[in-house]
This record gives sequence, structure tokens and C-alpha cells, in this order.
Amino acid sequence: MAIKIEELLDVCRVPPGKKVDLQKDYDPGFAGEWVRKEDAGETLAEGTKLLAEEQEILYAQDNYALLMILQAMDAAGKDSIIKHVMSGVNPQGVNVTPFKVPTSDELDHDYLWRNFIALPRRGHIGIFNRSYYEEVLVVRVHPQFLDGQKIPPRFKDEKIWKRRFEEINNFEKYLVNNGIPVLKIFLYVSKEEQKKRFLERASRPEKNWKFSAGDIRERQYWDQYMAAYEDVFYYTSTEWAPWYVVPADKKWFTRIAVAAILYHTLKSLNLAYPVVSEEDQQAMLAAKAELEREVGEKEVQSTDTPEEQTALVESTPDAESQVQSESEQAKNKKNGRKKKMNMSK
Ligand code: ATP
Ligand code: MG
Repeated sequence: MAIKIEELLDVCRVPPGKKVDLQKDYDPGFAGEWVRKEDAGETLAEGTKLLAEEQEILYAQDNYALLMILQAMDAAGKDSIIKHVMSGVNPQGVNVTPFKVPTSDELDHDYLWRNFIALPRRGHIGIFNRSYYEEVLVVRVHPQFLDGQKIPPRFKDEKIWKRRFEEINNFEKYLVNNGIPVLKIFLYVSKEEQKKRFLERASRPEKNWKFSAGDIRERQYWDQYMAAYEDVFYYTSTEWAPWYVVPADKKWFTRIAVAAILYHTLKSLNLAYPVVSEEDQQAMLAAKAELEREVGEKEVQSTDTPEEQTALVESTPDAESQVQSESEQAKNKKNGRKKKMNMSK
């Protein structure tokens, strides 16, 4: 990719222990100087091709799985990122799970449960469209969600958020230690760009279905959300699972950046196709030789002289007339049966 991945990672990665000030430290309109908008399509196509190659090895090796978490405010472009960045990869090796307001069944379990059962199997890339991070974002901004959770009241104290950060860090460490690296991406859209996108949803018929009055109401809590995100980065950007803040006002740049970060994460696993054992290699060579012999036999069988071939054609009724005569016979038989039936009436 023409894009300088290391520089991009430096821009986006939240160093562990850093108290981020989103407004000061990040610019949602940032687009780097590595790629021009005119070349964005070509660069993304290149990136998705590289990604597809890495994913194929991930799948073949069947040791690692990758979990990519996407968090964002509404209309930041989570759906379109998934659609465009994953466009080239084999759908068989990817699963996407959206996390919405928990159902009553989900509320009957601990908060990690629904995430746990959606984890990608080895060889796969799992994408969480929202995730357990909602538990320290929307639930923190609207603590009434906590009332609906069936945890014992004594655990609903003011220390619950710190405990959740710790639980999340431990969970992610467990995943990483078990061959499931966790890539966490926050798509950072500005409040102005969000407004523009909401207005577009309201005015373009093909986008109306995406418009939600609830999303507009949620804008009032923008500052609380930003503060909650800053805390999330402070407490959960770790050495083993760092956060990436990806500027999201320019969709063409966001797609390239996410593709590059995902590619880099896969590449850093040093994936390799499985090596066939000596024994399996011998068996494969024997099977190959057998297959080649089979082809050879067929070739021998079909080397008749031209005269023999002509004789064969002449002595065989041509296929079409044979089919016709068979269907004619069947028709006659049927008519005969009909006649018989009519006669018996
Ligand atoms: P889109 O709007 O693009 O379809 P979305 O992710 O916004 O995608 P919605 O159905 O609009 O999907 O919203 C899901 C809502 O569920 C979000 O407002 C999110 O904050 C909320 N949610 C997710 N997890 C929880 C949770 N654990 N507790 C409460 N609300 C949650
Ligand atoms: Mg929504």
C-alpha cells in the first residue's frame, strides 16, 4: 500500500496509560498526506487484496482468530466500513455480530456472555459492530440501563465502571493469550459531520430507512459520550489490546486507514500456510501419481482410429432422435393407459 502504515498507526494508536483529550489530540477531518482522494479507490482495492491474502493464510493455518471491535457514535460509518473494507475477503472466514440493546435473554446472563458466544472460531475474523464496550459507554451515559441489569444491587455501586474496565482488560488478555488478538477501533466522527449525515438520511429517499429520531436525541449527550470514550481509552488501551482512534469525517480515508490497520495486525501475526508432514507428503505424491495414471488410461481408451469413430457414429442412433423416440414411446404408453382407462369406464 502506498500509505505509510507505521506513520498511520502512530497517528491513530492510543498509547497505554495516556489520558486522551479527543478534541485536542485528534482531528476527525484528518486524511493524512499519503493518499489523494482521487487515488483512494485504487489504494483501497490494493489494500483489500492484501487483506484477502492474509485472511486466506489465517483460515488455512487455523490457529489464530482475529477479533475486530468497531465503536462509534451514530452515523460514523461502521456499516460502510464493514462493507468496503471486507469486500475482498472470503465471506466464509468472516462473521459480523451487531450488539444492540440487550434482549431479556441476554439480560439473564452476565454482560460478557453474548460477546463470548459470538467470538470468532480459529481461522476466522470476527467483527463486533458495537460490543461489551457499550457497557461502559451507553450504560454509563444512561445509568438507568444498569437498573434493568439483573446484577445483585450491592454490585451497582460507583466503583462498577472501574471494575468493568478491569474485567474487560482481563478478558482481552485472556483472548490474546489464547491466540485471539483484539483490534479495537473507534471511528471518530465530528458532531458537525454527524449532523450532515443525519440530514442526508432525512432528505434522500434511499437513505430514509437509516434515519432514527432516537439517534438525533442521543446527540444531546455528545459531551458525556466523548468523556466516556476518553475514560475507555485511558483505562483499556493496553499493550496487549490498544485502541485506535480513526478519523471518520472523510469516508474514503477512514476505509483505507481501517484496511491498513487490519492488514498490519494480521501481518504482525507472521501467519504461514501449514507445512505438510513428510508422511502426508508421501501420501499426496502417491495419490497424485494414481490420478495421473487414471488420466493416462482414459487417453489410451479414446485413441480409436478415425474409421472406428465413424463406424461408431453411424451405428449409434443420434442422441436427439433417441431421446425423442423414448419420449414418444412414453407418450404412447401413457395414451394407451388413458385409452385403457377410458375403455374400462
Ligand atoms: P445502525 O444505526 O447503523 O443500524 P447501530 O449500531 O446504531 O447501527 P441501532 O439498532 O441503531 O444500531 O442501535 C443499537 C443501540 O443499542 C445503540 O444505541 C447502542 O448504544 C445500544 N446498545 C448496545 N449495547 C447496549 C447495552 N449493553 N445496553 C444498552 N444499550 C445498548
Ligand atoms: Mg443507530
